[in-house]
Amino acid sequence: MIDIRDVHWRYAAATEPALRGFNLTVEPGEVVLLCGASGSGKSTALRLLNGLIPHFHDGDLQGTVRVAGLPVPDTPLEELGRRTGSVLQHPRRQFFTGAVGPELAFALENLGTDPSVIRRQVELTAADFGLLPLLERPLAALSGGEQQRVACAAAVTHRPVLVLFDEPTSNLSTDAIDHFVAGVRRLRAAGAAVVIAEHRLHPLRDVVDRVVVLRDGRVETGWTAAEFRRLD
Ligand code: ADP
Ligand code: ADP
Repeated sequence: MIDIRDVHWRYAAATEPALRGFNLTVEPGEVVLLCGASGSGKSTALRLLNGLIPHFHDGDLQGTVRVAGLPVPDTPLEELGRRTGSVLQHPRRQFFTGAVGPELAFALENLGTDPSVIRRQVELTAADFGLLPLLERPLAALSGGEQQRVACAAAVTHRPVLVLFDEPTSNLSTDAIDHFVAGVRRLRAAGAAVVIAEHRLHPLRDVVDRVVVLRDGRVETGWTAAEFRRLD
């Protein structure tokens, strides 16, 4: 699902490369946690996978990036968008509508999906993320944690094959983390590849298949889920 080989990337505004010799492969149905200190390249790695790099950021890219068989630098963002769902660090900034139901329907409407399919997918996804009681609620009336869950659900109603989360648990209460973990389990069961950038490992330890530790723009080490649980 993901094949990243020997990627070097420098933002045009930076003197040092953010990624230097970065490699990552992820299979369908695999949940991978990217961790590492602030500045180690986690967000940059996600931008590489949803096409924001190189389509939205200027800089120098070397190496190979393939997602769902597509070479990312040569694939239009719209094509990548059909296959990927992303939740960025500040979910509030990625809302397009005013209420939970419409927000969950937004991507499907954009793709021209049949309204009866939209209704079904929105209900199923809302249930997966514990949002059924909130469907009528205005987004502005939600807590930070609820907004984050809405952003997560809205990113996956179109059933992307690759889902990317940037620090999804940072605003979440323990209850909300449980809902989030349940949602990730459903995605995995549906065969999606899931990549989560997160510096808090503990809340996600039961849902993660593999942990990849970044340092200075490359993979420093990797753990299987079993090794990871033993370390924890
Ligand atoms: P935070 O972790 O506090 O949310 P980020 O690292 O995500 O902050 O940065 C916020 C914004 O600033 C992002 O759009 C990011 O691309 C940009 N940014 C981060 N580091 C730099 C930098 N060194 N130079 C220019 N822009 C940067
Ligand atoms: P992390 O997500 O692990 O905190 P980032 O991917 O945000 O790391 O950052 C990796 C490096 O790239 C950092 O040195 C950061 O300052 C730099 N960087 C991130 N975004 C930008 C940007 N938009 N422009 C310039 N430099 C950036």
